[in-house]
Amino acid sequence: MTKFAFPPADPISLPIAGRDERFPVRRIYCIGKNYAAHVKEMGGDAKRSEPVFFTKAAETIVHSGADIPYPPNTKDVHFEVELVVAIGPDTSIFGYGVGIDLTRRDLQASAKSSGGPWARAKNFHRSAPCSAITPAAGLDLSHARIVLRKNGDIVQHGELSDMIWNVDEIIARLSADMDLQAGDLIYTGTPEGVGPVRVGDELSGGIEGLERITVRFV
Ligand code: MN
Repeated sequence: MTKFAFPPADPISLPIAGRDERFPVRRIYCIGKNYAAHVKEMGGDAKRSEPVFFTKAAETIVHSGADIPYPPNTKDVHFEVELVVAIGPDTSIFGYGVGIDLTRRDLQASAKSSGGPWARAKNFHRSAPCSAITPAAGLDLSHARIVLRKNGDIVQHGELSDMIWNVDEIIARLSADMDLQAGDLIYTGTPEGVGPVRVGDELSGGIEGLERITVRFV
């Protein structure tokens, strides 16, 4: 048995809808610039836009129902509701969730202008809320609607069919760079309508057929 110098961290996991087992989270990959209307609202040109890949640590996961302290070192945290693909053994799709890719937009803007990495803008504590995982068997999400409500009002809405790179294409691209492993999550990009959150706001994201993600900022 391996001897550790101090106790290793507990594994990060998500509930699985309808099961008493949990989905063990290994790594989190994210794709940016994957809905044309969102590329446009961020000042880009979708026709010339290539997908952007970045990562978050598994420790950034937040479960539905949790309170999130407003993140440090920013005055402009934005919500981005996204379909999350949960990878199973042999690069199969185990299931899907609804995630919110929280972004420190002010730090992202300064990274973009200096040509620096997005890590501080994207990969911070509690930056990856994610719903329970719904097993993929029998699910057809190809035309499912994706919606985010802030304090009950719809702020983002789209159709998964609006994605520039669909789920199979994203998996193929990621697999060309590294071996996807069971437990990996892929946040697949956000539709238009991203915007700021303030202390006291509640965000609730949904995709037809999947469990919801709801978090509140405190
Ligand atoms: Mn995103």
